[in-house]
Amino acid sequence: MSVYNDERVPEDAMHPGPEGHISGMGVLPTALKQALVQPEQLRKTPPCNAGCAGGGDVRGWISLVAQRRKLGLSDASACTQAWNVITEVNPFPATLGRICPHPCEDGCNRGDKDGAVSINALERFLGDWALQRGLKLAVAERGNCSESVGVIGAGPAGLSFAYQMARRGYRVTIYEKQERPGGMLYFGIPEYRLPGTVLAAEIERILALGVELRLNTAIGRDVTVQQLRDMHQVVFIGIGAGAGLKLGIPGEDGAGVWTGTEFLSQLNRGSKLELGANVVVVGGGNTAMDAARAARRTGARVSMLYRRTRIEMPAIETEIDDALEEGVDIAYLTAPVAILREGGIVRSVRVQRMELGEADRSGRRKPVPVIGSEQDIPASAVIAAVSQEPDWEGLGELRDGKIWIHAGSNGALGDGVWAGGDALGLGIAGLAISQGRKAAEAVHAKLRGLPTQSISDGTGAADEPTPKPEYYAAIPRSSSPYRDVSSRLANPDLEVQQTINARAFFEEVSRCFSCGSCFGCEQCYMYCNGGGFSKLQEVAPGRYFSLSLDTCESCGKCVELCPCGYLSARPGLRSNEART
Ligand SMILES: Cc1cc2nc3c(=O)[nH]c(=O)nc-3n(C[C@H](O)[C@H](O)[C@H](O)COP(=O)(O)OP(=O)(O)OC[C@H]3O[C@@H](n4cnc5c(N)ncnc54)[C@H](O)[C@@H]3O)c2cc1C
Repeated sequence: MSVYNDERVPEDAMHPGPEGHISGMGVLPTALKQALVQPEQLRKTPPCNAGCAGGGDVRGWISLVAQRRKLGLSDASACTQAWNVITEVNPFPATLGRICPHPCEDGCNRGDKDGAVSINALERFLGDWALQRGLKLAVAERGNCSESVGVIGAGPAGLSFAYQMARRGYRVTIYEKQERPGGMLYFGIPEYRLPGTVLAAEIERILALGVELRLNTAIGRDVTVQQLRDMHQVVFIGIGAGAGLKLGIPGEDGAGVWTGTEFLSQLNRGSKLELGANVVVVGGGNTAMDAARAARRTGARVSMLYRRTRIEMPAIETEIDDALEEGVDIAYLTAPVAILREGGIVRSVRVQRMELGEADRSGRRKPVPVIGSEQDIPASAVIAAVSQEPDWEGLGELRDGKIWIHAGSNGALGDGVWAGGDALGLGIAGLAISQGRKAAEAVHAKLRGLPTQSISDGTGAADEPTPKPEYYAAIPRSSSPYRDVSSRLANPDLEVQQTINARAFFEEVSRCFSCGSCFGCEQCYMYCNGGGFSKLQEVAPGRYFSLSLDTCESCGKCVELCPCGYLSARPGLRSNEART
């Protein structure tokens, strides 16, 4: 029975399109008739899995829903199982479904047909769906894991580490210096992108596994590093990089100037900041973009200064578009040289034009000042969101003298200490979550004497399955609905993007090509003259047919026709010799 009686998509829509082959009488290329090709069933890494910063099995969870009819699953159990696959590696689907820049979509083979699958919107739907139903995180198989684990920082890295350890039965305590958990997800990202209630509910589920959270407790101030080490066999450093860097220009010190993280954290705490009519934001990353959009919501005119061009801007593309739509003015190739005050009050920013010179170590072209191009622009407040670094106050004993932590593989620092997240270098939430998980899995393997498994982190290459887009029906991409600009500015805290509805969700999953994994289309079964393919009694995503080569005529039809690229030609058996 459907859980969405009114919105259910009638059929599993992973069906052949107008160009699809729907009978056993397909027309085969002559070359194939003559080729000597034996098939093998080879599951390949799809581009979405390869691109996922969190190492998630994107195809795996989408397949559970897309193939639910073939798998005999109700809509509800398909969604639950899909959510379980996600939360195996990422306990924050409702959160990441809202804020992840979704590199998983970049390589989607559907992209050139009618738009990449909206993976992020699907994840968000499942995340919200699970929160509405109060689904609990699954515990892992537990051994006698009695060791005590101390985590510094309740950001996504620390929470992910804590989750993976707690679900394996370890005793976990998180020490968080702020009054709330969530790190930059709470104190950095504004409410209109990620409601605090959504984040809090996903954190609550982790704590429900028995994780102890000590708020307002700074390691290095309230608890010393030595005390921490005495209490716990394992320590995880997830302190993030919350210290905003200053601009280093005259006039910066004093009222009316904030770093991006200072500004956003005060705003997210509900402080009323006196910004005045003209806010100048310096920077081009996510923090700058959030600061600019949040400042715009106070009614101020907002000008962003970025010293390179849009192409080099590190902020998430859609964030830049949204900021522009909301009326943020972006001055590219412009840098501040001084903040000018009258009687201590910020009045203007002196800016200088830049031009792009040679590429620097990051590969981006270096901005070079244009002499004599200075001018003053009006400013009542300045937000410097140029970069951040970890705050090491009180943590000297854990530091090797460098600003960023240089950890070994899986975050190992030696002597029972591990690390992950932004403290290793500024990244995104999905990466922090994956680093927390990798460290936890490595710690567990070490403590239990298990072999360390290789864990995907989204940097691996896809095996390049070559799906055949023409097989699949054209279905336009659905993406999260957007609130219009006037409504956004009138309701500063309202979420800009909304969750897709159930109909759109089920239609969107059906757009997945299932690249490199069988989805039971039956093409091979229908076309095989030798009867080499047999239907399996017990099916699973990627497992619908067995293959026997005993009767294979080596015609290669199955390989040629397999729409998702799951069937491959056996190496060494392909021959150009004509068959007689
Ligand atoms: C404004 C902004 C917008 C962003 N937007 C996005 C986005 O849209 N999408 C995305 O994927 N990523 C985004 N990011 C990046 C993302 O938030 C970070 O990559 C992620 O939060 C890093 O996680 P973390 O756990 O390493 O660190 P944090 O999230 O910084 O958490 C670290 C935690 O450690 C605590 N802590 C620090 N020192 C101590 C101590 N001595 N004792 C106890 N506790 C301590 C801190 O209070 C904090 O709670 C954004 C970042 C910012 C700043």
